[in-house]
Amino acid sequence: ASKVAGKGEVEEYVDTMGRSRLERLELVDDLRRALDRAELDIAYQPIVAVDTGRIVGVEALARWRRGGVAVPPDLFIPTAEDAGLIVELGEQVLATATTDARALRAAVDGPFLLAVNISARQLREPTFVDSVRRAVSAMRGITLVLEVTERQGIDLDPRVLATMEAICAAGAEIAIDDFGVGFSSISYLHDLPVQHIKADATLAQDIDTDERALALLRSVIAMGRTLGFGVVVEGIERESQLAALAADGDDLLAQGFLLHRPMPVSELLVVLATDRLAGTVAAESA
Ligand code: C2E
Ligand code: MG
Ligand code: MG
Ligand code: MG
Repeated sequence: ASKVAGKGEVEEYVDTMGRSRLERLELVDDLRRALDRAELDIAYQPIVAVDTGRIVGVEALARWRRGGVAVPPDLFIPTAEDAGLIVELGEQVLATATTDARALRAAVDGPFLLAVNISARQLREPTFVDSVRRAVSAMRGITLVLEVTERQGIDLDPRVLATMEAICAAGAEIAIDDFGVGFSSISYLHDLPVQHIKADATLAQDIDTDERALALLRSVIAMGRTLGFGVVVEGIERESQLAALAADGDDLLAQGFLLHRPMPVSELLVVLATDRLAGTVAAESA
């Protein structure tokens, strides 16, 4: 609801989420301050191979505690986009992930993916490729994957395309995030240097109860494979969803609360050690 103020009245404006204009301004102010003080954290969510159950990588997810209370990314990421803070936020997340990669490298025994979400806005920053180059060289042994969401529409501007090419030439890879729910036509997949697609959680939502939902997801997986992409299915919350994917298990990756929740890096290192041990035991008994 919004109300246009008459003369002498205090202007009151409430957004669709029920927040007043003042609350929004305070949110932006607090976010700016948190960025100035580098107070954002990362939670890492493991990405798992469906056939073996082993962890093959992690996704870095920004976390912000505002006065002790966690603010949902679905609130502060759009706020950062609107307020022109998303480039700085993205740089800080990439820098923290790069630092954490050192500990991750020591904790894993094979190829490992470290995925970082980026805003389309970052692909328009002239200095972004330099940041990626620095991150890639510091992460030696770990593959940096940059996740670009399909939700905002895929930008086919030649400059953005050139940036994506440069990112890949630098040794990073690109994933299309939230695949299947965007407004873009899928023909962009043909034009962009992309190595992974992440099927949006909504595509996996009903695969354990609805044959057609499963058929749809399976055709997305098949398309991804045909085009040579790595495929990750997001939003696996139930055993029955995972079971529905078993027939597609080979090379398929999955992410979801059933497998692992996002966690601080300290906890991730423990989980990785356990996973590595399980892998060793499996290899010895094979
Ligand atoms: P995303 O990149 O698609 O990340 C996956 C989201 O799904 C995460 O939410 C994760 O916690 C959640 N998730 C994982 N498994 C499950 C599951 O089984 N069920 C359900 N319901 N959800 C699951 P989160 O951390 O709240 O992040 C929301 C979105 O915010 C992300 O979606 C991403 O688009 C954006 N985001 C997060 N961190 C960053 C960042 O550093 N930069 C940018 N530009 N965007 C970010
Ligand atoms: Mg993502
Ligand atoms: Mg996603
Ligand atoms: Mg998503």
